[in-house]
Amino acid sequence: MSAEILNGKSLAADMRLDIASQVADLKEKTGITPGLGVILVGVDPASTSYITAKERACEEAGMYSEDVRLPAETTENEILALVQKMNNDPKINGILVQLPLPKHISESAVINAIAPEKDVDGFTPVNVGRMMIGQTCFLPCTPHGIIQMLLKAGVETSGKNAVVVGRSNIVGKPVAQLLMRKAEGGNATVTVCHTGTKDLKSFTLQADILVVAAGRPNTVTGDMIKPGATVIDVGVNRIPDETRPRGYRLAGDVDFESAKERASLITPVPGGVGPMTITMLLYNTLESARRATEK
Ligand code: NAP
Repeated sequence: MSAEILNGKSLAADMRLDIASQVADLKEKTGITPGLGVILVGVDPASTSYITAKERACEEAGMYSEDVRLPAETTENEILALVQKMNNDPKINGILVQLPLPKHISESAVINAIAPEKDVDGFTPVNVGRMMIGQTCFLPCTPHGIIQMLLKAGVETSGKNAVVVGRSNIVGKPVAQLLMRKAEGGNATVTVCHTGTKDLKSFTLQADILVVAAGRPNTVTGDMIKPGATVIDVGVNRIPDETRPRGYRLAGDVDFESAKERASLITPVPGGVGPMTITMLLYNTLESARRATEK
């Protein structure tokens, strides 16, 4: 058996067309163009390429984007002042601070400074808390994108065993939270694994839905997958490869070749979760602009 590929790129393209038409509609009815403020500190190549992709996606959706790229020596106070300025700018509906920040800057201080109504990444404690207790909030983009993929692919989550490998604040914990919600795309029985988990394979083999966000290639191999499972590979790892123009290739956290022989549905890397993450950022920014017009 070879798994069907869950193509995030084409799902994301469909959703972005729909978002672009809603942006045009909002502009026509209210004169408001949804705006995203992006702050990048330093020149980390992976962060720079994510930010460039996010800005391009904004433009294609007809949104306004304000891009501030700062040198790595920028102080925490300078960044806090910039966040404050964006909090007060009516042209900006969503603020994205690209992580990681340089070591001398407190990420939590910067995230906490973002106004919750502009926190389109869903990282502020207010949004995280609201998500946890099921109140209206901005859902974090990668976990929300994963749930949307499952819904659009018709994967039943209710009553299924879902296993999440990874417990980070940006992927593992929130995706586990969304999968266990008593809601569409949720209602699963969720297990969260991490480096303290003994015998990872004994858990992954129970998974009808397996989400892997470990940040390490080959964390999950085919023999660790329940036959017929849905496998969502969140990992993005740069593997040195001199035969490639950029000197590296991208790989997920799952060994794709062996996994596709056991799974029934699997996301590729690249072209799986990544494009959905950016799409949900656009979705949240549009939603934020809508909420602003309702005020
Ligand atoms: P992270 O903060 O490094 O967290 C990794 C988690 O995986 C940790 O909880 C860690 O456990 C766990 N882990 C690591 N190795 C493990 C192992 N062998 N067995 C079990 N658990 C293990 O990473 P992250 O920010 O969640 O990101 C994960 C991956 O997703 C990265 O490759 C990242 O680049 C990618 N990512 C992709 C997107 C996208 O849009 N495609 C978005 C975000 C992240 P401990 O807690 O015990 O250390």
